[in-house]
Amino acid sequence: DSADYDREVKSVCPYCGVGCQLSFKIKDDKVKYVDGVDGPANEGRLCVKGRFGFDYIHHPHRLTKPLIRRDDAPAKGLNVDPENWQAHFREATWDEALDRAAGGLARLRDDAGTRVAGFGSAKCSNEEAYLFQKLIRQGFGHNNVDHCTRLCHASSVSALMENVGSAAVTATFNEIENADVAIVIGANPIENHPVAATFFKQFTKRGGKLIVMDPRGVGLRRFASHMLQFKPGADVAMLNAIMHVIVEENLYDDQYIAGFTENFDAMKDHLKAFPPEKMAEVCGIPADTLRDVARTFATARAGMIFWGMGVSQHIHGTDNSRCLISLALMCGHVGRPGTGLHPLRGQNNVQGASDAGLIPMFLPDYAPVGDDGVRSLFRDLWGTEFSPDKGLTVVEIMDAIHAGDIRGMYILGENPAMSDPDVEHARDALAKLEHLVVQDIFLTETANYADVILPATAWPEKTGTVTNTNRQVQMGRPAVPPPGDAREDWWIEVELAKRLGLPWTYTHPSEVFAEMKHSMKSFDNITWDRLEAEAVTYPSLSPEDPGQPIVFGDGFPRAGGRARFTPANVVPPDELPDPEYPMVLITGRQLEHWHTGSMTRRATVLDAVEPEANCSMHPSTLRRLGIEAGGMVRLTTRRGTLVVMVREDRAVAPDNVFLPFAYVEAAANILTNPSLDPYGKIPEFKFSAVRAEKA
Ligand code: SF4
Repeated sequence: DSADYDREVKSVCPYCGVGCQLSFKIKDDKVKYVDGVDGPANEGRLCVKGRFGFDYIHHPHRLTKPLIRRDDAPAKGLNVDPENWQAHFREATWDEALDRAAGGLARLRDDAGTRVAGFGSAKCSNEEAYLFQKLIRQGFGHNNVDHCTRLCHASSVSALMENVGSAAVTATFNEIENADVAIVIGANPIENHPVAATFFKQFTKRGGKLIVMDPRGVGLRRFASHMLQFKPGADVAMLNAIMHVIVEENLYDDQYIAGFTENFDAMKDHLKAFPPEKMAEVCGIPADTLRDVARTFATARAGMIFWGMGVSQHIHGTDNSRCLISLALMCGHVGRPGTGLHPLRGQNNVQGASDAGLIPMFLPDYAPVGDDGVRSLFRDLWGTEFSPDKGLTVVEIMDAIHAGDIRGMYILGENPAMSDPDVEHARDALAKLEHLVVQDIFLTETANYADVILPATAWPEKTGTVTNTNRQVQMGRPAVPPPGDAREDWWIEVELAKRLGLPWTYTHPSEVFAEMKHSMKSFDNITWDRLEAEAVTYPSLSPEDPGQPIVFGDGFPRAGGRARFTPANVVPPDELPDPEYPMVLITGRQLEHWHTGSMTRRATVLDAVEPEANCSMHPSTLRRLGIEAGGMVRLTTRRGTLVVMVREDRAVAPDNVFLPFAYVEAAANILTNPSLDPYGKIPEFKFSAVRAEKA
């Protein structure tokens, strides 16, 4: 009813990488409610977060003034009440706060041998991500800049870059409507990409075969032709067994392999060691099922593979993705309608932030920092030199703080005091920093440790472009004014850069977008004016082309145009259950809460539906432990211990624990293992040895 609101503003959802378009309905400069809009990804649909998760922006905890740590503040720690912070911080003008923030970072920069690091954000726009990495590289001369992709799909990116030559999806998720079969592995789209899940369900209704693979019996199992609930960490064994069958039974597409790939002979040899009859015990899936899945996928006319963090967040995350890429390649399921490789992206702009170079080994458009030609292009563009050495990644930066190699940080919109593995180690690192600048919309757990806090605008208060999991670039628009003195992230970045001595003159994000186009071929034929009118999928082949939903039909962006088969061996999880820690802990998200909970736990409806920290276990495990559903359980790993309410859930395998990481009062990452995948440098969030006891 239009009487309910004064005006409406079309924008993009602030949460997941599906990138649903929505319309904010506004009355008296407050968002009253939200409706879905017919965007290319969502076709009018929204999930509970998009529809009901908007009112965090009006929460009284919003930061409205710059804050500076008091000289007589208590020692740094996770000890600041967001409603009663005055003992720790005092309000400041923007000039004083920016001078203090930049002055502290510049002092450390100019102190020989001292390094400063930066975490940008996948919740910011493409332009803000670009400016952030430019500020670190141009302002400090090195590549110590990263963001939450390191905790998300970094291993998928390393495998895709290695074997396909491009880090983005080869087909939009909407292409599933042209597929006959789809594999969804290590992902729980009904909770984490709910609107994408509606397309997956529709696909099964018209007869498509859905093969779900996950150590948990995730919700999509109800729509699946095959549900493979494999043992945690056994992905490579299972996928190699499936590929073994495809080779053994000559089900592979030899024409496609000959025309578009390399190294298949080595792959064939490698797979001989993985017969399903041998791997069944390792992965917990009967050989007959593995054979049936292999035949179903390989003989389909068109097949797609979707994956999530169940694949990526392992010390063998890159190997997992290598297997999925090989599986699609040997069946010729890439580059045609209804085929493709699609790692489902998490944050609303994690694709765009990665594309914009917010990572320590790549500049914009994944140009390697070590390549002299690449750096020469950016030297011409930016007028400055910077290091050819790869920078440190998220977890490595925390270790470098403990080692005394990093003494200052600028953190924009990330919350490592909740999101890093072995989070007490990360919190101790943050407390050790000599100068920490945090830019955010709330006084987050990370902001507890700040020396200067800069109040930023929330997504519905800013202008900027974002890129979703489908490579669709879309315009975000300001719907309501920011509270108090909060300012847009790009503005704060520019003001800091000027105080660091950089000659930045940007006055609007459109100027940043125009500069990005000089180094990002992916934005060819995409202009700010176009995005004001329509979403565009990259690559776009002409100013009129809405973009290519499917890529690599005529070859890959690698030498010779060929994708590569890279064999993967079985690497066991970093710490296996033992008598002291006999169970397996798996962390993840749940439908109502988003990542570290800073937004959704301040959204009235979402917090009312899921107000309490919880974990889930199989009923047989609860019986063995003598715990009633709804009771409290103590979880202990080699990193720490916490107490949390436990739910009964038959979808969780016996002797596994599933624990969401959104709750500060039972922060899952107190327990998680910081061991890293050697290629993507992603931690093993999906497997920690744990002990559970009645609390
Ligand atoms: Fe937002 Fe994702 Fe839900 Fe769409 S599916 S409304 S983008 S959280």
